Amino acid sequence: MDLSNYIRTINDFPKPGIVFKDITPLLNSPEATSACLEQLLELLGDRKIDKVVGIESRGFFFATLLAHKLQAGFIPIRKPGKLPHKIIRRSYALEYGDDHIEMHEDAIEKGDLILLHDDVLATGGTAKAACELIEHLGGVIVQCNFLMELEFLNGRDKIAGYDVQSVLKF
Ligand code: AMP
Repeated sequence: MDLSNYIRTINDFPKPGIVFKDITPLLNSPEATSACLEQLLELLGDRKIDKVVGIESRGFFFATLLAHKLQAGFIPIRKPGKLPHKIIRRSYALEYGDDHIEMHEDAIEKGDLILLHDDVLATGGTAKAACELIEHLGGVIVQCNFLMELEFLNGRDKIAGYDVQSVLKF
């Protein structure tokens, strides 16, 4: 099954110049979702994972499926002001200005083996900030995996020290 057939490309969304990769057709197909989940698990191999960290919001879908399959916990990383308990926060640079992500400070125990997941690796800024949050709490990042990677943006250079994997490359 060619999973790229289930990714819809929308030009100039949400702003002019952005080529948006829409995963809703993939999520709308149970066959494609299963195939994609199997491929993500294959990329991980038989390494032990204690917690899967998913990045808001489209990272949550496969992060929770992966956590369930791996019998691991699921931890959300969210945009500012969404998490109700005590949080830690990291800022990261955007093309114009900066943004923040947050995680509950009690979500990770020192030495937890972590799989970080998001739908798209673009510039890598979000993933890098997520790795910093995880390591600040003592988590050990086993792999960063993505449904797809926009190779022309060189996002993997920002998280070069980690095992970075993606199912699809554009
Ligand atoms: P970045 O920090 O530049 O790697 O951006 C990654 C985050 O932004 C991910 O959470 C993606 O969901 C989202 N994102 C960035 N670029 C795109 C794109 N072209 N299509 C869909 N989502 C994107």
